[in-house]
Amino acid sequence: MGTRILNKEVIVFLRRCFFLAVFFFPVLANAANAESPMSPDQALQELMAGNQRFVAEKVVHPNQTELHRKDLVEGQKPFAAILGCSDSRVATDLVFDRGLGDLFVARVAGNILDDAVLGSLEYGVGVLKIPLIMVLGHESCGAVKAAIADKPLPGKIESIAKEIRQAIHGDTCDPKDQPTCATKANVHAMVERLKNSQEVIAPLVKSGKLKIVGAFYDLETGKVELTNP
Ligand SMILES: [Zn+2]
Repeated sequence: MGTRILNKEVIVFLRRCFFLAVFFFPVLANAANAESPMSPDQALQELMAGNQRFVAEKVVHPNQTELHRKDLVEGQKPFAAILGCSDSRVATDLVFDRGLGDLFVARVAGNILDDAVLGSLEYGVGVLKIPLIMVLGHESCGAVKAAIADKPLPGKIESIAKEIRQAIHGDTCDPKDQPTCATKANVHAMVERLKNSQEVIAPLVKSGKLKIVGAFYDLETGKVELTNP
């Protein structure tokens, strides 16, 4: 009787080990495989160099060959994460002249942070070991304009505007420069919110393994400028 109970416990234990291994091995294997060879500053330099190529019309379209695509099947090692706006004019991979597997991008109207976006970025920096997050606002952002117009908006658009209003609350802007100023204030607020996100991101920032910067994209020139390097 005693042996039977023991055997049952052993089987339950082994089953648990099996399920743990099946569920967690891919995550752990991916994490071990994904150490970034770049420091946060190197990643930022690489990103800005790509934008300079884009502005100067000297793009090289890196990492877009068939060979590179196949190399990525086993895993990804992006060097930068970007929180950008959904706006079609701010296509991040083009703006930074990067290819497959380079950038880990979360795009949402007004580049706001909700739980899903935060979770995505936490996965990027916590599991994939990305050393840089850039929050990228842009000129003439419809989401920011809608938020500061302060008129009722249909559906869930209102929830985006509300997030932006809360983020920029208390920032004073010159009325002539209001959309740009409010966009930069919104970027700043998201950077601060990320830096203070305690569970995954804040400890990485504190240890120097992760840098978070804010930036602003000029639609006309194509240039990205840092708002808080
Ligand atoms: Zn926008």
